Amino acid sequence: MTPRPGSGQGRPAVFLDRDGTMIEDVGYLDALDRVAYYPWTVDAIRLLNRAGFAVVVVTNQAGIARGFFSEAFVQETHRLIDARLAAGGARVDAYYYCPHHPRGKVSEFARACDCRKPGPGMIDRAVRDHDLDPARSFVVGDTWLDVGLARAVGARGILVRTGAGAAWEARTPPDLAADAVVDNLAAATSWILESLKDEV
Ligand SMILES: [Mg+2]
Ligand SMILES: [Zn+2]
Repeated sequence: MTPRPGSGQGRPAVFLDRDGTMIEDVGYLDALDRVAYYPWTVDAIRLLNRAGFAVVVVTNQAGIARGFFSEAFVQETHRLIDARLAAGGARVDAYYYCPHHPRGKVSEFARACDCRKPGPGMIDRAVRDHDLDPARSFVVGDTWLDVGLARAVGARGILVRTGAGAAWEARTPPDLAADAVVDNLAAATSWILESLKDEV
């Protein structure tokens, strides 16, 4: 494995996909009243906070490049999620989103990039910004883009069956086996906390 920035030092993190993992995947989420939380999301994130993980959201938002919504809307969505989490004593430490898509309509964002998952760009930035250690970190998401991202940065990858996850599970690319496939973010959190007990 090629050493990544910050590997071997820094804090462990759980990198969370947003749509289909923290909140329901409603297609291109373009209105705040379409944000629908899974009932376990707040509790799961609070447990990860208490276990000492940095909790970092990494989300592809190609709807920005496609002109469906603005960056400001994505940021507003994240403030709304933050308020809900705070009410339950939970916290996301940082949000990163990729606004790009190679076939986008908005010229500023219509390009290939290194941050669209499974590219490592968002995690590379998070590692630098927050002094994280990808080798002791986890990526949780509902598609193989998330598992591929885990591979790309040397973290463990967990596929959840919410969102598109159950469909993805049925057609796993042979080179992209997840470290675990579990029902949802609550089960992923249990798996992560259990895995810590195996470490000396
Ligand atoms: Mg997703
Ligand atoms: Zn990007």
